[in-house]
Amino acid sequence: MTSVKIFSVSGIPIELDFSFLLLMLFIYILAYLGFLSVNLAVLITLVFVTVVIHELAHSYVALRFGVKIKSILLLPIGGVSRMEEIPRIPRQEFMISIAGPLTNILMALITAVPLLFGLKGAAASFAGDFLAVNLLLAIFNLIPAFPMDGGRILRAILAARLNYIRATRIASNLGKIIAVLMAVTGLFYNFFLILIGFFIYIGAEQEYQATLISSLLEGVRVADVMTENPVTLHPHMTVKEALDVMFREKHMGYPVTEAGELRGIVTFHDISDASRDLRVEDVMTGDVVTVRDDEEVTGALEKMNRLQLGRLPVMRDGKLTGIISRTDIVRTLNLMNKKTE
Ligand SMILES: [Zn+2]
Repeated sequence: MTSVKIFSVSGIPIELDFSFLLLMLFIYILAYLGFLSVNLAVLITLVFVTVVIHELAHSYVALRFGVKIKSILLLPIGGVSRMEEIPRIPRQEFMISIAGPLTNILMALITAVPLLFGLKGAAASFAGDFLAVNLLLAIFNLIPAFPMDGGRILRAILAARLNYIRATRIASNLGKIIAVLMAVTGLFYNFFLILIGFFIYIGAEQEYQATLISSLLEGVRVADVMTENPVTLHPHMTVKEALDVMFREKHMGYPVTEAGELRGIVTFHDISDASRDLRVEDVMTGDVVTVRDDEEVTGALEKMNRLQLGRLPVMRDGKLTGIISRTDIVRTLNLMNKKTE
């Protein structure tokens, strides 16, 4: 367990990551020992409260559009709304993304009222800090670059007119330009900007790749991509015999079958260091994760990523019909990407 749930707001659990709890503890210990002013400790707490309210706004609007929300997780670097994929409907993506920054602007405006009416003293400096934090958070998040909200808002506006992949490519490229400009500015003024630039650049590229993959693979089934009738090995073959097959066929992984039944899977990696007179059944992985041939390729890819596997045997009615590997998926993606360009 790495996070602690503190409470729920309209069914959305708020969780604190363990590293976040340590950070807060550290800050308050420093404040207690006098190395840090109590005001600063309170201000940092206030920043995180503001971040939670910002994320709640995203989640609340997403919930209204039927998106399932798992939780809002607070990390030392900020907050993350853990929700299923946002629908690719520009109007919905726009509303979900803008809800966060708009809430910050709204809170800044509300806080400005008592200040304008002459609030004084400690309460005023507290309100002033809260106003500034909200304004900064709104401005930072409106930068039109992934993974900030501004990047998503821009993509939604573009996607209302262009196809979704092109809209993402333009928004992602603009994000990269902004990232490079930030990093260059950072070289002269503030080292921290280089870090943010780097973070934005990676985020922009990841968002583009993820969108490309899920858009291209939409509706594509495992059966369309898999290698049919794969070469199989018998569990009683020796490692030497299996290596001979591997050198001849030049694949990295092979299903192990006996009388048509799938018994396991063995990779070159499993076998290359094994003693030559062991048998395949001694070195294979017996507990095999499989996919059905009518499953979506995105599901198979998600399984491979989660379990860190390079290939999965494909089954139909309990019989092996093929094998699907990352290489198969990448090849399909390249072909489909050429078609869209
Ligand atoms: Zn946001």
